[in-house]
Amino acid sequence: MKIICIGRNYSEHAKEMNAPVPTEPVFFLKPDTAIIKDNQPFYYPDFSKDIHHEVELVIKINKPGKNIDKKFAKKYYDEIGIGIDFTARDLQAKCKEKGLPWEKAKAFDGSAPIGRFIDKKKIEDINNINFSLSVNGNIVQEGSTKDLLFTFDEVISYVSNFFTLKTGDLIYTGTPKGVGPVKIGDKLEAYIENENLLAFEIK
Ligand code: MG
Repeated sequence: MKIICIGRNYSEHAKEMNAPVPTEPVFFLKPDTAIIKDNQPFYYPDFSKDIHHEVELVIKINKPGKNIDKKFAKKYYDEIGIGIDFTARDLQAKCKEKGLPWEKAKAFDGSAPIGRFIDKKKIEDINNINFSLSVNGNIVQEGSTKDLLFTFDEVISYVSNFFTLKTGDLIYTGTPKGVGPVKIGDKLEAYIENENLLAFEIK
């Protein structure tokens, strides 16, 4: 399986990164070794001094597809979850400066904690899902899919023009504003509406 991450999909986050608001989806990949499941801890890596949290809603692809038309995209996922797109912001800044790929800063081991998934049928309105992240009990990021630049269906359709989507692939759909550093000892908890779906510690 593969992990596809959408960058700058909330304009307020693009602004806080001093990045232009994209006119088409920006995306990158993480390998399966990036995943952390079952609320296992994240171990702060030696190669960075500035790991940031980015809380994101995650779509789980349920069947193979290529060149998926936007109007059929909703048939390609049944479940929505929440995860963290951990980013080594110091390494990313260096990559950006030199125009180099971001993988070192984005796709390292453990960079994609993923929580429990919920059936999308239980969600009232896919276009208005509220989600949040707390660090040590304080809410640090809050978002709603009503503010997405590219909807889930648009993202699935766009990405499938380049990559065949396969069952079990995950799409991290972008982070709202409020990204920031984590430190050893922090406890992160992520919510869809008021349901706690992910809780783990930085070690
Ligand atoms: Mg992200």
